[in-house]
Amino acid sequence: MKHMGIYIAAVATLVPLALFLRTFSASPLPEPKPYTGPVPSATPPQGIGVFALVTGVNHRVAAYGYRGGSLFERRDFSIAGTLVKHPQGDVLIDTGFGRDFPEQFQTMPLMLRAVTFYSLWQPAADQLKAAGYDQKSLRAILPTHAHWDHVSGLPDFPGVPVWVTSQEREFIRRGGNWQFGKPFTGVRYEEYGFEGGQYLGFTSSHDIYGDGSIVVVPAPGHTPGSVIVFVTLHDNTRYAFVGDLVWQLEGVTEREERPWITRRSDSDAEGTRENLLHMISIKERMPELVIVPAHDMRAFAKMPTLSQATIHTGETT
Ligand SMILES: [Zn+2]
Ligand SMILES: [Zn+2]
Repeated sequence: MKHMGIYIAAVATLVPLALFLRTFSASPLPEPKPYTGPVPSATPPQGIGVFALVTGVNHRVAAYGYRGGSLFERRDFSIAGTLVKHPQGDVLIDTGFGRDFPEQFQTMPLMLRAVTFYSLWQPAADQLKAAGYDQKSLRAILPTHAHWDHVSGLPDFPGVPVWVTSQEREFIRRGGNWQFGKPFTGVRYEEYGFEGGQYLGFTSSHDIYGDGSIVVVPAPGHTPGSVIVFVTLHDNTRYAFVGDLVWQLEGVTEREERPWITRRSDSDAEGTRENLLHMISIKERMPELVIVPAHDMRAFAKMPTLSQATIHTGETT
């Protein structure tokens, strides 16, 4: 009888554990339908550029980022923003960590804090200041979505409009998941819509300056108002800032979703998968497209930084 009890306890422990570990194993998504539509034209002005602002890291393992990743391979996930310089006004995609992050961290749910091992390097506002950047050049902040690690720095940019979709504005208002416990005060949200037509197979789009250089498309799933931002430079280099659609590049290159435990908090996991499959088909059509997942350090390491720009051009803005 005693042995039976031990046996049942062992099964009751090991079976769920095995099932849980299985959710980290490789499981590539089926090949998506190829994207055969046009590559949109763009006439980006001279002087447009993207600059990495990595504000710190979250110490994780590869398995946390994509199915099939090793549980033993340490990876630092970037917490970052990207400055897009444009002659008509610069746009900051995500902020990464802000100056107040240590206090903000205390307002996060215990469960989230328990799995967050971060190193705070330098907030975006301080990096810009150190590079001699004039905040007046900043037209707006454009978060890919409103989770804590993308908007922590909003209070560091008082008066700068924060562009959000109505769905994401509502998500913020309702205090949706993975936001700080204490809402920001004094942040100036401005809603935008998708008045433009199809873009790379996405149903609608928002072309910020009308020149095709910064185009936002709706990609709901991770949060209700998540977006992807496509940036095209003057030399025709194209970027896709995909936010948390995937956390690591393998999400696209190996067609691997984030592991189950992290997808559970997506507002619409099915929507995330659909948008991921579509991004994969776009990448196959346009292999030169540079995909930037918000938390993949390798993508940011390839992008210039403002200090490099200072060295190369002798300019600081
Ligand atoms: Zn997120
Ligand atoms: Zn994130």
